[in-house]
Amino acid sequence: MSDLFERLREIVGDAHVLVDPDLRAPYETDWTRRFTGTARCVVRPADTAEVAGVVAACAAAGTPIVVQGGNTGLVGAGIPTGSEVLLSLTRLTGIEPVDPLEAQVTAEAGVTLENLQRHARAAGLDFGVDLAARSAATVGGLVATNAGGIRVLRYGSMRAQVTGLEAVLADGTVVSRLSGLAKDNTGYDLTQLLVGSEGTLGVVTRARLRLVPLLPARAVALVGLATTEDALALLARARGALTGLAAAELCYADGVALVRSYAGLPAPFPEEYPVYLVLECAARSDPTDELVELLGDAGEIGDATVASDAAGRTRLWAYREAHTEAISAAGIPVKLDVSVPLRELASLAAQLPPTVDAVAPGARLILFGHLNEGNLHVNVLGAGAQGTELTDAVLNLVAAHRGSISSEHGVGRAKARWLSLSRSDAEIATMRRIKAALDPPGLMSPGVLLP
Ligand SMILES: Cc1cc2nc3c(=O)[nH]c(=O)nc-3n(C[C@H](O)[C@H](O)[C@H](O)COP(=O)(O)OP(=O)(O)OC[C@H]3O[C@@H](n4cnc5c(N)ncnc54)[C@H](O)[C@@H]3O)c2cc1C
Repeated sequence: MSDLFERLREIVGDAHVLVDPDLRAPYETDWTRRFTGTARCVVRPADTAEVAGVVAACAAAGTPIVVQGGNTGLVGAGIPTGSEVLLSLTRLTGIEPVDPLEAQVTAEAGVTLENLQRHARAAGLDFGVDLAARSAATVGGLVATNAGGIRVLRYGSMRAQVTGLEAVLADGTVVSRLSGLAKDNTGYDLTQLLVGSEGTLGVVTRARLRLVPLLPARAVALVGLATTEDALALLARARGALTGLAAAELCYADGVALVRSYAGLPAPFPEEYPVYLVLECAARSDPTDELVELLGDAGEIGDATVASDAAGRTRLWAYREAHTEAISAAGIPVKLDVSVPLRELASLAAQLPPTVDAVAPGARLILFGHLNEGNLHVNVLGAGAQGTELTDAVLNLVAAHRGSISSEHGVGRAKARWLSLSRSDAEIATMRRIKAALDPPGLMSPGVLLP
């Protein structure tokens, strides 16, 4: 191993091979504190050539690698298990000038989402993916997880924003396709193969990304409702009526109460509602009137409040966006991220409390999610030793509703053993053949994604 460490130091410099346990520690535990492990060392390359050198050196030594960006992933996929070199991409922070004609930009893997958004907005454009971990989540992590977030309704997930990638494969080969052509039918799409591959097929070093129009006028509504069905009915009408609909986010009374005590927020309405929906419209000119008109006509609404100024919008978004942090502050939850067809969503939401209670009596279930995609984040606090049984019960329930066991966070280590609930044997066997072709010795993130 000391030979490998020596070789890695030659490639990235002494200061960027972290062997000391105190220096490695921040990389070895995930954001949720649920996943923790040990890396042989943490290596922090500065550019693509150094990444390729590190990967080739590890391949030559037969040492596995786990890739990490901002370490905000929620399924343990960027956390080592003991035998890996942890490859951190956070020093790859270069970003090229925005190309206004193509409306695209090329960014290195370690650029944070927040910096990418700032860069695009300074050029009069915007980036189509947004999520609450924006200050730390990186371009490489967003690509590798095919991240979703709060704007999928309007722009699709990360996959839809990526027009090309540069990546280092498991043997150190660099593949690059960064021209960003809108039309390019020249064989297998290696870019899209790497999107959502969770670090198991290669290391993303650079991405060519599509940008969207900057829509400076925004209006946000927080709506109180009686049932999940009411939220779905309002969503269906909002999609038909609101030209600027940009987000539709769901949460429930328990979660809002937790967020309020965590963030010190006042009650949004004089009365508590079982269900809350955040609707956001974005346009070139103020969309407040069309949002207010929709809400005025909606019989299912209990109460609603609308804000169009920046401070008011942030205040309303906080009831939904602070969920992940508030839950994490309350304990280490069993955290699942599932999606079902919209027709199944209300039934799933109704069946989850008794399902959780049957396995972990007294545990605290907090649900929230991205309504338009039927995506529920299932968080259970106080499950004690019942984490695996609970995961099994919830994911089987989701499968019975024709859903996916991972809507946007990925499969990671957390859900690998349940992959067959969402993928057929033939699909998993095909995935294994792809993995074996690109990474024959299985050195890239072993144990992640494929059971
Ligand atoms: C508060 C909070 C809110 C969140 N909200 C959302 C949300 O709304 N929607 C959503 O989809 N996710 C959400 N997430 C999850 C997380 O932010 C995303 O999964 C994000 O894409 C992870 O990016 P990262 O840079 O932190 O990646 P990491 O956590 O470092 O890694 C995640 C995965 O990507 C791989 N990876 C990282 N970089 C590379 C690379 N350069 N090349 C190859 N593989 C790589 C890792 O090996 C791992 O498999 C949230 C997380 C938090 C903490």
